[in-house]
Amino acid sequence: MVAINVTIDGKRVSAQTGQTVLEVAERSGIKIPTLCHHPALAPIGACRVCLVEIVGQRTLQPACTFQVTEGMEIHTRSAKAESARKFVLELILSDHPLDCMTCEMAGHCELQDLAYQYGIKESRFAGVQHEYAVTDANPFYERDYNKCILCRRCTRACAELNGVEAISMLWRGFDSKPGTAFDGDMADSTCEFCGMCVEVCPTGALVPKQRAGKGREWEFTQVATTCSYCGVGCQFYLDVKDGKIIKTTSKWDAPANHGLMCVKGRFGWDYVHHPDRLTTPLIRRTKDGELEEATWDEALDLVAKRLGEIKAQYGSDAFGCLSSAKCTNEENYVMQKFTRAVMGTNNVDHCARL
Ligand code: SF4
Ligand code: SF4
Ligand code: SF4
Repeated sequence: MVAINVTIDGKRVSAQTGQTVLEVAERSGIKIPTLCHHPALAPIGACRVCLVEIVGQRTLQPACTFQVTEGMEIHTRSAKAESARKFVLELILSDHPLDCMTCEMAGHCELQDLAYQYGIKESRFAGVQHEYAVTDANPFYERDYNKCILCRRCTRACAELNGVEAISMLWRGFDSKPGTAFDGDMADSTCEFCGMCVEVCPTGALVPKQRAGKGREWEFTQVATTCSYCGVGCQFYLDVKDGKIIKTTSKWDAPANHGLMCVKGRFGWDYVHHPDRLTTPLIRRTKDGELEEATWDEALDLVAKRLGEIKAQYGSDAFGCLSSAKCTNEENYVMQKFTRAVMGTNNVDHCARL
């Protein structure tokens, strides 16, 4: 990479060869609208919403794929660029249901945001609109391709992030849409239901079924958490409303998983609110008695007393501890420390050892 200088909207900024106009603009605090662009995906210049005017270029260029060169003069807000952007948005909205009142993504939809920014209430282009059936047998997410803007974020996420390629763009022209081989249900495809396509979709075309009717995006509070299913330690956000989890959202700066998730973390959290879940300790107050609810003090006192009795009667090696990769490092550390320092044995093992 070689250091160069470019001018964006009259501001002289330094850049590196190989960087795109969009990258340099973002680094300089200049926002260029995008739809198909996602920072975790390779740019493809599909939507043309990021068109900018570059001095010396005969046509407008997509900022997400066009690379800067020494002395380049870029205008992101010129009348020509803004009018082309509005035209592209109107074309997209000419085949869109404008269903924002009841759409699950309202308030979190990049198309809605841009329509607002450019003051587009309806498209001036009349014509046939798609009327795709909105049904899919899979239990995890809805596919409403009437709201699809053909940005290909979903197909790229499936290929580039998850490496599965369960979906790709089908057909051509007006019939183009993302879908599985032979255009079947997701449940009959190679889909692993990681939900990365749902995560990156900029509109309401892909929506988790768990969130249907549960509230508007701005009502949710995001709480960062670490997945409790396995030892990888993936982090993500729980979107919470009134003390209930509504859905999950990728945490792109998570050190172990960089935003990626599997089906368990993405969709498998409903056990948290399951009525069968134990929320209080249970103990047997008599030798053959039934399990009864107890306080934590009562339960911990009983465990301490019985472990002490066993150690006194049978010796330290009568005790052994099996810990779990589903626990945190800190919990596993405490478990082995307790076994060695309190129970006096090295009988420590772990399900992930082999
Ligand atoms: S996908 Fe976006 S623009 Fe389309 S109906 Fe839903 S909120 Fe509105
Ligand atoms: S389903 Fe969503 S992510 Fe996929 S192409 Fe359509 S709008 Fe883009
Ligand atoms: S859920 Fe995951 S595997 Fe399935 S289509 Fe989406 S990205 Fe691909």
